[in-house]
Amino acid sequence: MNRNEAFELLARENFLNLSEKNKIDILTDFWFIYEDDNNYDIQLLTYLKQHSPEDVEKYNSIFDPIIIDGLKFKYRIFNNKYLAQLLNIDIVVGNEKEGIFKCPCCNFYSLDSQEGYDICAICLWEDVGSNQNNYSSVNRSTLDNYRINFFKKNNKKELMDKYIHDD
Ligand SMILES: [Zn+2]
Repeated sequence: MNRNEAFELLARENFLNLSEKNKIDILTDFWFIYEDDNNYDIQLLTYLKQHSPEDVEKYNSIFDPIIIDGLKFKYRIFNNKYLAQLLNIDIVVGNEKEGIFKCPCCNFYSLDSQEGYDICAICLWEDVGSNQNNYSSVNRSTLDNYRINFFKKNNKKELMDKYIHDD
């Protein structure tokens, strides 16, 4: 199975366990990302363009494709071995580092862009592109200190079993 198929299966499985509130949260996170995505049907795209997340009072199944894609997106940070483990299958193949960038803090691959103010889903460092020793006010730390604290609180071996890293 390739990574994309794995993301799809995991997303569909995960979808079944979401509460309405979970779905609305994901919808809000991905609303503006998917507003211009031409893969969706025209009715959904028109709705996205003419409304904002605040207008959604009750979840509607027309949003399902966005939730599935949102969930698929969240699985990109996992390595092939861990995806296979989650699916209880022997092997998942595919380039783990395709379209994903390394976090300057934890060094796992977790970012959509470089120095694009993305927040790492693993260590939560915001990629402001600051120099190793400069204090970053949004992160309330220097990069080096943040990294040291993160690895004090988290077991590196366990993280490496799950996330994408250089060998
Ligand atoms: Zn990180």
